[in-house]
Amino acid sequence: MTTCRFAPSPTGFLHVGNLRTALFNFLFARKSGGCFILRLDDTDPERSRDEFADAIRFDLEWLGLEWDRLERQSARLDRYRTARDDLLASGRLYECFETQAELDLKRKKQRRLGRPPVYDRSALQLSETERQDLRASRPPHFRFLLHRHRAAWQDGILGETSIDVGSVSDPVLVRADGQFLYTLASVCDDIDFGVTDVVRGADHVTNTAIQVQIFEAMGGGVPGFAHHSLLTGRGGEALAKREGSLAIRDLRAAGVEPMALLSHLARLGSSHPVVLRGSVTELAAEFDLSRFGAAPAKFDPEDAAGLTARYLATLPVSAVSSDLAALGVPSAEAGAFWGAVRENIRTRSDIDHWWKFCTGGAEPLVDSEDAGFVAEALDLLPPRPWNSGTWSSWTSRVSEATGRRGRRLYLPLRKALTGRPQGPDMSKLMPLIRAAPEWPERRQANP
Ligand code: GLU
Repeated sequence: MTTCRFAPSPTGFLHVGNLRTALFNFLFARKSGGCFILRLDDTDPERSRDEFADAIRFDLEWLGLEWDRLERQSARLDRYRTARDDLLASGRLYECFETQAELDLKRKKQRRLGRPPVYDRSALQLSETERQDLRASRPPHFRFLLHRHRAAWQDGILGETSIDVGSVSDPVLVRADGQFLYTLASVCDDIDFGVTDVVRGADHVTNTAIQVQIFEAMGGGVPGFAHHSLLTGRGGEALAKREGSLAIRDLRAAGVEPMALLSHLARLGSSHPVVLRGSVTELAAEFDLSRFGAAPAKFDPEDAAGLTARYLATLPVSAVSSDLAALGVPSAEAGAFWGAVRENIRTRSDIDHWWKFCTGGAEPLVDSEDAGFVAEALDLLPPRPWNSGTWSSWTSRVSEATGRRGRRLYLPLRKALTGRPQGPDMSKLMPLIRAAPEWPERRQANP
């Protein structure tokens, strides 16, 4: 069965960059009816925090990216210990004793000599006595002994990909303080959880070359790999370096709708145009990794905002019934009210403005050159109740009386009634307007 995982480290909030990875894995798994695992890479006790783990889960739930299985690396330390011992026994893991300062010095020397700063494996030259002496003075860290050949794989996005492992240092898999590093833990997990496909950012390409060797050394099946390009900000800047994050929680606070964001990210950077979809099932059905390119893709929050407005305009009243109820819209009026406003809001929080308007009116906006015209028109305003024909019969009478037509007729009247130059269809809005003290009718009585 196709099994994918999204493996964030709970060291920060989810942002659009990691969401793209989550979404690709989710859609890939769902498309083939497979399994989607949420794995929290929390082996670093200092940087991992429960509040971030909770926030990541909350964001994914809000987005509707439900996982079939949740795993935490911090609960699997015994497994990583066994893997360490097995790799030591097979000679693929070796003890090293250099301090950070010693390693820095070595790298400086190598650079001076024009050599790549690759670890020189001097720990392998130590005699058993030297090793024992060192063990007494400092705890060892452990490196994986790489085969120094060129690693090649058929990447699900990049196509034929190869990396010269000869220019990569043997990776540290276990730190001197005993902490297991992601490079090892991730491979153990991918093997144990039956992960068949790994989709992750292009910043992991070298890791893949290394991890393929660890999979093989541990006798596990090597999954398929696909590396997507990284997202940048509007100006092409790396998201991490961008002023202010593009955190999912910030986008949510700005009113972005999950399906607008997901529809955008499911196509951004691909050869398919962005199409607004109403469910993740639809996105999964048409998801195709091979359509994505290697070039970085620009994320502009304005696009997600525009799609949000378009998405809201498609929603039936049943999808916003709780929002309307919370504002006090009676259910008998909900359908008509939503039908009037849904194409004129950017976010759900804009609904409030129009309900307040219906129940309390608005401060009229009357340009000085229109003052006489508006006063004359208000005199012609028919008495309540108003219905869907009121706007057209009233504006016809006003037109006959004043000779105004088109924009010069409608715009000042819209501004006088709603206080804004744009908004919902007035024929739909007028029947919803309740009498209110500030309403022009009263001004009419006391000009
Ligand atoms: N925790 C790793 C990261 O967030 C996971 C990478 C992977 O998908 O293997 O970069």
